[in-house]
Amino acid sequence: MNQAQRVQELPPYLFAAISRKIAEKRAEGVDVISFAIGDPDLPTPPHIVESLVDAARDPANQGYPETDGLPEYRRAVAGWYERRFGLTFDPDAEVVPLIGSKEGIAHLPLCFIDPGDVALVPDPGYPVYPVSVQLAGGVCHSLPLLEEKGFLPDLDAVPDDVAAKAKMLWLNYPSNPTSAVASLDFFEKAAAFAKQHDIVVVHDMAYSEIAYDEYVPPSFLEAPGAREVGIEVHSLSKSYNMTGWRIGMAVGNADLIGVLGRVKSNLDSGIPNPIQRMAITALEGDQSFIATNNAIYQRRRDMLVEAVRSAGLRVTPPKASLYLWCGLPSGVGSIDFAARLLDETGVVVTPGVGYGQHGEGYVRLSLTVPDDRLAEGIKRLKAWRG
Ligand SMILES: *Cc1c(COP(=O)(O)O)cnc(C)c1O
Repeated sequence: MNQAQRVQELPPYLFAAISRKIAEKRAEGVDVISFAIGDPDLPTPPHIVESLVDAARDPANQGYPETDGLPEYRRAVAGWYERRFGLTFDPDAEVVPLIGSKEGIAHLPLCFIDPGDVALVPDPGYPVYPVSVQLAGGVCHSLPLLEEKGFLPDLDAVPDDVAAKAKMLWLNYPSNPTSAVASLDFFEKAAAFAKQHDIVVVHDMAYSEIAYDEYVPPSFLEAPGAREVGIEVHSLSKSYNMTGWRIGMAVGNADLIGVLGRVKSNLDSGIPNPIQRMAITALEGDQSFIATNNAIYQRRRDMLVEAVRSAGLRVTPPKASLYLWCGLPSGVGSIDFAARLLDETGVVVTPGVGYGQHGEGYVRLSLTVPDDRLAEGIKRLKAWRG
Protein backbone atom coordinates (compact mmCIF):
# COMPACT_ATOMS: atom_id res chain seq x y z
CA MET A 1 0.00 0.00 0.00
CA ASN A 2 1.20 3.46 -0.80
CA GLN A 3 0.38 5.94 1.93
CA ALA A 4 -0.12 9.34 0.38
CA GLN A 5 2.64 11.81 1.13
CA ARG A 6 0.15 14.08 2.90
CA VAL A 7 -0.72 11.26 5.28
CA GLN A 8 2.90 10.37 5.94
CA GLU A 9 3.52 13.98 6.88
CA LEU A 10 0.66 14.09 9.42
CA PRO A 11 1.79 14.39 13.03
CA PRO A 12 0.30 11.80 15.40
CA TYR A 13 -2.91 13.19 16.96
CA LEU A 14 -1.93 14.41 20.41
CA PHE A 15 -4.85 12.92 22.30
CA ALA A 16 -4.43 9.48 20.72
CA ALA A 17 -0.99 9.15 22.37
CA ILE A 18 -2.35 10.34 25.72
CA SER A 19 -5.26 7.88 25.59
CA ARG A 20 -2.81 5.05 24.90
CA LYS A 21 -0.63 6.01 27.86
CA ILE A 22 -3.68 6.18 30.14
CA ALA A 23 -4.84 2.73 28.96
CA GLU A 24 -1.37 1.29 29.72
CA LYS A 25 -1.37 2.70 33.24
CA ARG A 26 -4.89 1.45 33.92
CA ALA A 27 -3.89 -2.01 32.69
CA GLU A 28 -1.08 -1.90 35.30
CA GLY A 29 -3.76 -1.26 37.93
CA VAL A 30 -3.03 2.46 38.44
CA ASP A 31 -6.06 4.58 39.46
CA VAL A 32 -5.59 7.25 36.79
CA ILE A 33 -7.21 10.70 37.07
CA SER A 34 -7.21 12.50 33.75
CA PHE A 35 -7.24 16.28 33.44
CA ALA A 36 -6.20 15.85 29.82
CA ILE A 37 -9.34 16.12 27.72
CA GLY A 38 -11.92 18.91 27.46
CA ASP A 39 -15.09 16.85 27.25
CA PRO A 40 -17.85 18.09 29.58
CA ASP A 41 -18.74 15.56 32.28
CA LEU A 42 -22.00 17.42 33.05
CA PRO A 43 -25.08 15.96 31.31
CA THR A 44 -26.79 17.18 28.15
CA PRO A 45 -29.87 18.94 29.59
CA PRO A 46 -32.88 16.55 29.49
CA HIS A 47 -35.13 18.89 27.48
CA ILE A 48 -32.53 18.81 24.70
CA VAL A 49 -32.30 15.01 24.73
CA GLU A 50 -36.11 14.83 24.65
CA SER A 51 -36.26 16.57 21.27
CA LEU A 52 -33.83 13.99 19.87
CA VAL A 53 -36.08 11.16 21.01
CA ASP A 54 -39.19 12.79 19.52
CA ALA A 55 -37.48 13.48 16.21
CA ALA A 56 -36.08 9.95 16.04
CA ARG A 57 -39.66 8.60 15.99
CA ASP A 58 -40.66 10.81 13.05
CA PRO A 59 -40.30 8.88 9.76
CA ALA A 60 -39.77 12.22 7.96
CA ASN A 61 -36.28 12.17 9.44
CA GLN A 62 -35.28 8.88 7.88
CA GLY A 63 -33.97 10.23 4.59
CA TYR A 64 -30.87 12.23 3.76
CA PRO A 65 -30.68 15.57 5.52
CA GLU A 66 -29.68 18.64 3.49
CA THR A 67 -26.03 19.74 3.67
CA ASP A 68 -27.18 23.25 4.44
CA GLY A 69 -29.36 21.96 7.23
CA LEU A 70 -32.95 22.49 8.27
CA PRO A 71 -34.10 26.05 7.62
CA GLU A 72 -35.34 26.01 11.24
CA TYR A 73 -31.81 25.26 12.48
CA ARG A 74 -30.28 28.08 10.45
CA ARG A 75 -32.99 30.41 11.80
CA ALA A 76 -32.29 29.22 15.34
CA VAL A 77 -28.61 30.05 14.86
CA ALA A 78 -29.42 33.53 13.53
CA GLY A 79 -31.84 34.10 16.41
CA TRP A 80 -29.24 33.03 18.95
CA TYR A 81 -26.66 35.42 17.45
CA GLU A 82 -29.14 38.24 17.70
CA ARG A 83 -29.98 37.54 21.34
CA ARG A 84 -26.44 36.77 22.38
CA PHE A 85 -24.43 39.36 20.44
CA GLY A 86 -27.00 41.79 19.04
CA LEU A 87 -25.98 40.90 15.47
CA THR A 88 -28.39 39.99 12.68
CA PHE A 89 -27.56 37.46 9.98
CA ASP A 90 -29.48 36.14 7.00
CA PRO A 91 -30.09 32.50 7.97
CA ASP A 92 -30.08 31.42 4.32
CA ALA A 93 -26.91 33.19 3.20
CA GLU A 94 -24.80 33.79 6.29
CA VAL A 95 -25.17 30.54 8.29
CA VAL A 96 -23.90 27.03 7.53
CA PRO A 97 -24.43 24.09 9.93
CA LEU A 98 -21.35 22.04 10.78
CA ILE A 99 -20.98 18.42 11.87
CA GLY A 100 -19.24 19.73 14.96
CA SER A 101 -16.96 22.71 14.55
CA LYS A 102 -13.94 20.44 14.00
CA GLU A 103 -15.49 19.39 10.69
CA GLY A 104 -15.84 22.99 9.53
CA ILE A 105 -12.36 23.89 10.72
CA ALA A 106 -10.86 20.92 8.88
CA HIS A 107 -12.59 21.82 5.62
CA LEU A 108 -12.06 25.59 5.61
CA PRO A 109 -8.50 25.48 4.22
CA LEU A 110 -9.86 23.56 1.20
CA CYS A 111 -11.95 26.66 0.53
CA PHE A 112 -9.25 29.31 0.71
CA ILE A 113 -5.79 27.74 0.43
CA ASP A 114 -4.05 26.74 -2.80
CA PRO A 115 -0.86 24.67 -2.64
CA GLY A 116 1.93 26.90 -1.37
CA ASP A 117 -0.37 29.54 0.13
CA VAL A 118 0.29 30.63 3.69
CA ALA A 119 -2.03 30.40 6.69
CA LEU A 120 -1.33 32.30 9.89
CA VAL A 121 -1.76 29.87 12.75
CA PRO A 122 -1.68 30.53 16.51
CA ASP A 123 1.04 28.69 18.43
CA PRO A 124 0.04 27.20 20.84
CA GLY A 125 -3.32 26.39 19.28
CA TYR A 126 -5.91 23.76 18.44
CA PRO A 127 -3.97 21.20 16.38
CA VAL A 128 -6.65 20.96 13.68
CA TYR A 129 -5.72 24.43 12.31
CA PRO A 130 -2.20 23.56 11.15
CA VAL A 131 -3.06 20.01 10.12
CA SER A 132 -5.99 21.05 7.92
CA VAL A 133 -3.83 23.70 6.26
CA GLN A 134 -1.17 21.07 5.61
CA LEU A 135 -3.75 18.66 4.12
CA ALA A 136 -4.83 21.42 1.73
CA GLY A 137 -1.20 21.82 0.60
CA GLY A 138 -0.73 25.10 2.41
CA VAL A 139 2.15 26.32 4.54
CA CYS A 140 1.70 27.42 8.14
CA HIS A 141 3.29 30.53 9.54
CA SER A 142 3.20 30.35 13.33
CA LEU A 143 1.95 33.29 15.34
CA PRO A 144 3.62 32.93 18.75
CA LEU A 145 1.15 33.46 21.59
CA LEU A 146 3.25 34.74 24.45
CA GLU A 147 2.24 35.17 28.07
CA GLU A 148 3.67 38.71 28.24
CA LYS A 149 1.37 39.69 25.34
CA GLY A 150 -1.72 38.16 26.94
CA PHE A 151 -1.45 35.21 24.52
CA LEU A 152 -2.59 37.46 21.65
CA PRO A 153 -0.70 37.29 18.33
CA ASP A 154 1.43 40.28 17.36
CA LEU A 155 0.11 40.84 13.83
CA ASP A 156 2.47 43.80 13.29
CA ALA A 157 5.33 41.32 13.60
CA VAL A 158 4.19 39.27 10.58
CA PRO A 159 6.77 39.98 7.85
CA ASP A 160 5.34 41.75 4.77
CA ASP A 161 6.25 38.97 2.36
CA VAL A 162 4.46 36.44 4.59
CA ALA A 163 1.38 38.66 4.92
CA ALA A 164 1.34 39.02 1.12
CA LYS A 165 1.18 35.24 0.67
CA ALA A 166 -1.24 34.66 3.54
CA LYS A 167 -4.79 33.65 2.67
CA MET A 168 -6.13 32.72 6.11
CA LEU A 169 -5.77 33.83 9.72
CA TRP A 170 -6.98 31.58 12.54
CA LEU A 171 -8.06 33.09 15.84
CA ASN A 172 -9.58 31.40 18.89
CA TYR A 173 -10.82 33.34 21.93
CA PRO A 174 -11.60 32.29 24.60
CA SER A 175 -8.57 30.25 23.74
CA ASN A 176 -7.77 26.59 23.90
CA PRO A 177 -5.24 25.85 25.33
CA THR A 178 -4.20 29.18 26.89
CA SER A 179 -7.71 30.22 28.12
CA ALA A 180 -6.82 33.80 27.17
CA VAL A 181 -9.58 36.16 26.06
CA ALA A 182 -9.56 38.92 23.43
CA SER A 183 -11.14 42.37 23.41
CA LEU A 184 -13.15 43.93 20.60
CA ASP A 185 -10.19 46.29 20.12
CA PHE A 186 -7.97 43.36 19.29
CA PHE A 187 -10.58 41.92 16.93
CA GLU A 188 -10.91 45.27 15.17
CA LYS A 189 -7.12 45.37 14.61
CA ALA A 190 -7.18 41.82 13.29
CA ALA A 191 -10.00 42.70 10.87
CA ALA A 192 -8.07 45.74 9.61
CA PHE A 193 -4.92 43.65 9.14
CA ALA A 194 -6.94 41.05 7.21
CA LYS A 195 -8.55 43.67 5.00
CA GLN A 196 -5.19 45.28 4.24
CA HIS A 197 -3.68 41.95 3.12
CA ASP A 198 -6.82 40.31 1.68
CA ILE A 199 -6.85 37.52 4.26
CA VAL A 200 -9.84 35.46 5.41
CA VAL A 201 -10.24 35.43 9.19
CA VAL A 202 -11.71 32.38 10.86
CA HIS A 203 -12.53 32.92 14.51
CA ASP A 204 -13.13 29.69 16.42
CA MET A 205 -15.46 30.48 19.33
CA ALA A 206 -16.00 27.01 20.77
CA TYR A 207 -15.95 28.47 24.31
CA SER A 208 -18.28 31.42 23.78
CA GLU A 209 -20.55 30.49 26.70
CA ILE A 210 -18.02 29.12 29.20
CA ALA A 211 -17.00 32.16 31.22
CA TYR A 212 -16.52 33.20 34.85
CA ASP A 213 -16.72 36.15 37.21
CA GLU A 214 -19.36 37.89 35.07
CA TYR A 215 -17.07 38.03 32.04
CA VAL A 216 -18.96 37.83 28.72
CA PRO A 217 -16.82 36.91 25.67
CA PRO A 218 -17.42 39.13 22.61
CA SER A 219 -17.90 37.82 19.07
CA PHE A 220 -15.25 38.65 16.47
CA LEU A 221 -18.15 39.63 14.21
CA GLU A 222 -19.08 42.48 16.56
CA ALA A 223 -15.84 44.28 15.67
CA PRO A 224 -15.98 46.99 13.00
CA GLY A 225 -14.85 45.54 9.66
CA ALA A 226 -15.02 41.92 10.81
CA ARG A 227 -18.03 40.94 8.73
CA GLU A 228 -16.20 42.01 5.57
CA VAL A 229 -13.31 39.64 6.12
CA GLY A 230 -14.36 36.79 8.32
CA ILE A 231 -16.51 34.08 9.70
CA GLU A 232 -16.92 32.60 13.12
CA VAL A 233 -17.27 28.91 13.90
CA HIS A 234 -19.24 27.80 16.94
CA SER A 235 -19.96 24.52 18.56
CA LEU A 236 -22.74 23.24 20.78
CA SER A 237 -20.26 20.75 22.25
CA LYS A 238 -18.93 22.71 25.20
CA SER A 239 -21.79 25.18 25.84
CA TYR A 240 -24.56 22.59 25.89
CA ASN A 241 -22.60 19.46 26.91
CA MET A 242 -23.16 17.94 23.48
CA THR A 243 -19.71 16.77 22.34
CA GLY A 244 -21.04 13.37 21.32
CA TRP A 245 -23.89 14.76 19.22
CA ARG A 246 -21.63 16.53 16.75
CA ILE A 247 -23.18 19.83 15.80
CA GLY A 248 -21.95 23.38 15.33
CA MET A 249 -22.22 26.25 12.88
CA ALA A 250 -20.30 28.77 10.82
CA VAL A 251 -21.66 32.31 10.63
CA GLY A 252 -20.49 35.48 8.90
CA ASN A 253 -19.60 36.94 5.53
CA ALA A 254 -22.00 35.58 2.89
CA ASP A 255 -19.34 35.02 0.22
CA LEU A 256 -17.14 33.02 2.59
CA ILE A 257 -20.08 31.05 3.97
CA GLY A 258 -21.14 30.33 0.40
CA VAL A 259 -17.73 28.85 -0.45
CA LEU A 260 -17.77 26.66 2.64
CA GLY A 261 -21.29 25.48 1.79
CA ARG A 262 -20.20 24.65 -1.75
CA VAL A 263 -17.24 22.55 -0.59
CA LYS A 264 -19.30 20.82 2.09
CA SER A 265 -22.15 19.97 -0.29
CA ASN A 266 -19.61 17.92 -2.23
CA LEU A 267 -18.19 16.19 0.83
CA ASP A 268 -20.95 15.44 3.31
CA SER A 269 -24.69 14.97 3.45
CA GLY A 270 -25.39 17.09 6.44
CA ILE A 271 -26.32 16.47 10.06
CA PRO A 272 -29.03 13.97 11.07
CA ASN A 273 -32.26 15.95 11.46
CA PRO A 274 -32.93 14.72 15.02
CA ILE A 275 -29.58 16.20 16.07
CA GLN A 276 -30.47 19.49 14.42
CA ARG A 277 -33.73 19.36 16.41
CA MET A 278 -31.67 18.98 19.58
CA ALA A 279 -29.61 22.00 18.60
CA ILE A 280 -32.71 24.09 17.87
CA THR A 281 -34.04 23.25 21.33
CA ALA A 282 -30.65 24.04 22.86
CA LEU A 283 -30.33 27.45 21.18
CA GLU A 284 -33.96 28.52 21.59
CA GLY A 285 -34.80 26.97 24.96
CA ASP A 286 -34.01 27.87 28.55
CA GLN A 287 -30.36 28.97 28.89
CA SER A 288 -30.25 29.09 32.67
CA PHE A 289 -28.32 25.82 33.04
CA ILE A 290 -25.34 27.51 31.38
CA ALA A 291 -24.90 29.76 34.41
CA THR A 292 -25.37 26.75 36.71
CA ASN A 293 -22.71 24.79 34.84
CA ASN A 294 -20.34 27.74 34.78
CA ALA A 295 -20.70 28.07 38.55
CA ILE A 296 -19.61 24.43 38.85
CA TYR A 297 -16.60 24.99 36.57
CA GLN A 298 -15.73 28.17 38.44
CA ARG A 299 -15.70 26.35 41.78
CA ARG A 300 -13.51 23.63 40.26
CA ARG A 301 -11.27 26.29 38.76
CA ASP A 302 -10.65 27.91 42.12
CA MET A 303 -9.88 24.61 43.87
CA LEU A 304 -7.61 23.43 41.09
CA VAL A 305 -5.74 26.75 40.85
CA GLU A 306 -4.80 26.40 44.50
CA ALA A 307 -3.70 22.79 44.00
CA VAL A 308 -1.50 23.40 40.95
CA ARG A 309 0.12 26.36 42.67
CA SER A 310 0.95 24.20 45.66
CA ALA A 311 2.52 21.73 43.20
CA GLY A 312 4.86 24.54 42.07
CA LEU A 313 3.11 25.64 38.86
CA ARG A 314 2.30 29.21 37.78
CA VAL A 315 -1.25 29.96 36.73
CA THR A 316 -3.61 32.90 36.22
CA PRO A 317 -7.22 31.91 36.97
CA PRO A 318 -8.95 31.93 33.57
CA LYS A 319 -11.85 34.28 32.80
CA ALA A 320 -13.26 31.77 30.32
CA SER A 321 -12.82 28.34 28.66
CA LEU A 322 -12.43 24.99 30.36
CA TYR A 323 -8.68 25.03 31.00
CA LEU A 324 -5.91 26.00 33.35
CA TRP A 325 -2.80 26.84 31.34
CA CYS A 326 -0.01 26.33 33.83
CA GLY A 327 3.58 27.51 33.54
CA LEU A 328 6.28 25.03 34.59
CA PRO A 329 9.41 25.95 36.53
CA SER A 330 12.01 27.21 34.04
CA GLY A 331 13.89 24.53 32.16
CA VAL A 332 11.32 21.79 32.81
CA GLY A 333 10.03 20.17 29.60
CA SER A 334 6.27 19.66 29.38
CA ILE A 335 6.47 16.06 28.13
CA ASP A 336 8.91 15.08 30.90
CA PHE A 337 6.79 16.85 33.47
CA ALA A 338 3.57 15.16 32.37
CA ALA A 339 5.26 11.73 32.31
CA ARG A 340 6.76 12.19 35.79
CA LEU A 341 3.46 13.46 37.24
CA LEU A 342 1.64 10.44 35.81
CA ASP A 343 4.24 7.99 37.11
CA GLU A 344 4.35 9.51 40.59
CA THR A 345 0.69 10.45 41.15
CA GLY A 346 -1.49 8.83 38.47
CA VAL A 347 -2.61 12.32 37.42
CA VAL A 348 -2.71 13.07 33.67
CA VAL A 349 -2.17 16.57 32.24
CA THR A 350 -1.60 17.60 28.62
CA PRO A 351 1.95 18.68 27.69
CA GLY A 352 1.81 22.18 26.24
CA VAL A 353 4.26 21.39 23.44
CA GLY A 354 1.51 19.26 21.88
CA TYR A 355 -0.18 22.55 20.90
CA GLY A 356 2.91 23.99 19.22
CA GLN A 357 6.49 24.88 20.05
CA HIS A 358 5.42 27.98 22.01
CA GLY A 359 3.34 25.74 24.24
CA GLU A 360 6.56 24.29 25.64
CA GLY A 361 7.01 25.17 29.30
CA TYR A 362 3.29 24.77 30.01
CA VAL A 363 0.79 22.04 30.76
CA ARG A 364 -2.98 22.18 30.35
CA LEU A 365 -5.52 20.94 32.88
CA SER A 366 -9.20 20.61 32.03
CA LEU A 367 -12.05 21.45 34.42
CA THR A 368 -14.27 18.69 33.00
CA VAL A 369 -13.46 16.22 35.77
CA PRO A 370 -16.33 15.02 38.01
CA ASP A 371 -16.20 16.46 41.52
CA ASP A 372 -15.17 13.27 43.36
CA ARG A 373 -12.32 12.58 40.93
CA LEU A 374 -11.34 16.25 41.06
CA ALA A 375 -11.09 16.09 44.85
CA GLU A 376 -8.86 13.01 44.65
CA GLY A 377 -6.71 14.67 41.94
CA ILE A 378 -6.33 17.79 44.07
CA LYS A 379 -5.33 15.70 47.08
CA ARG A 380 -2.59 14.02 45.04
CA LEU A 381 -1.33 17.30 43.54
CA LYS A 382 -1.12 18.89 46.98
CA ALA A 383 0.73 15.91 48.44
CA TRP A 384 3.17 15.82 45.52
CA ARG A 385 6.55 17.41 45.81
CA GLY A 386 7.63 17.74 42.21
C1 LIG B 1 -13.46 21.39 21.41
C2 LIG B 1 -12.96 22.35 20.38
C3 LIG B 1 -13.46 22.34 19.07
C4 LIG B 1 -14.29 21.21 18.54
O1 LIG B 1 -15.56 21.22 18.84
P1 LIG B 1 -16.59 20.25 18.12
O2 LIG B 1 -17.70 21.15 17.78
O3 LIG B 1 -16.93 19.23 19.14
O4 LIG B 1 -15.96 19.65 16.92
C5 LIG B 1 -13.06 23.33 18.20
N1 LIG B 1 -12.17 24.26 18.57
C6 LIG B 1 -11.64 24.27 19.79
C7 LIG B 1 -10.65 25.32 20.12
C8 LIG B 1 -11.99 23.31 20.73
O5 LIG B 1 -11.40 23.30 21.92
